[in-house]
Amino acid sequence: MERRFHCTACGKCCSGSLPLTLADAWTHAGRFPLAMVWTPLRRENKAFHLASRIGATVKLGGRKEIAVLIATTAYMPDSFSCPELGSDGRCAIHAAKPLRCRTMPFYPYREEADQADLLSPRRGWECDTSAAAPVVYRDNKIVARGDFERERGALLQEAPLMRAYAEYMLKYMPLLADTLAAGANKGAGGTAVTSLSSFLTATRQRDVSALASRQLAVLNEFAARTAGRAELAEYHKHYAGWAKEMDYLSKREQKPA
Ligand code: SF4
Ligand code: SF4
Repeated sequence: MERRFHCTACGKCCSGSLPLTLADAWTHAGRFPLAMVWTPLRRENKAFHLASRIGATVKLGGRKEIAVLIATTAYMPDSFSCPELGSDGRCAIHAAKPLRCRTMPFYPYREEADQADLLSPRRGWECDTSAAAPVVYRDNKIVARGDFERERGALLQEAPLMRAYAEYMLKYMPLLADTLAAGANKGAGGTAVTSLSSFLTATRQRDVSALASRQLAVLNEFAARTAGRAELAEYHKHYAGWAKEMDYLSKREQKPA
């Protein structure tokens, strides 16, 4: 089986949340409002084993175990275009855009053999899948695999940090396990979100004050953009609360980890 695909750079997929590698999150901390998004998966899910390797496993009551993907995420409502999307539909940081944008439409949080459906453009997207487009997926394998492997490799490399974070959060926020259990039962879309500051604290990241200063400016901007919009009240509450945490971290004197 062969699938063809060419990105025409229409910019139609550049909206909503965007999972980032940690390196990309730090690079773009002055652009995107960052959060940690947890996606719980039950054992029956096709991505369970992969999620156990790049995320964490969590034991629930009744000896049930789920896998949880934990992604540093540019956390934005679906109705918001990426802040780097120009009015001409082009990416303003094309040469420096995150790995997630380079690997599109492939998704390294899923098995390589489970990518075919991602090559069908969603309604309104202008991806070229005609006979003129190059073959990008053959016999369940990605043809030009450089970006996919770089992104997958980065996720595998940061996995121990994500596991340490999960352990910390489940110890100090035991109710999180209940949220994850409920999310796993819901299937697709059952995610939980926690603050970047909790990750920075739990994993004793270095250079936190400079990073927090960059986030503070972005979070304040997004808090202002979502203020007074009932449908975005949850986002507004997060942005405003996280801005306070980043304000604190930006002023805190850093001690070596
Ligand atoms: S960084 Fe560029 S390619 Fe990535 S979502 Fe934003 S506009 Fe699109
Ligand atoms: S919707 Fe398709 S063509 Fe448009 S930018 Fe995204 S991947 Fe490219």
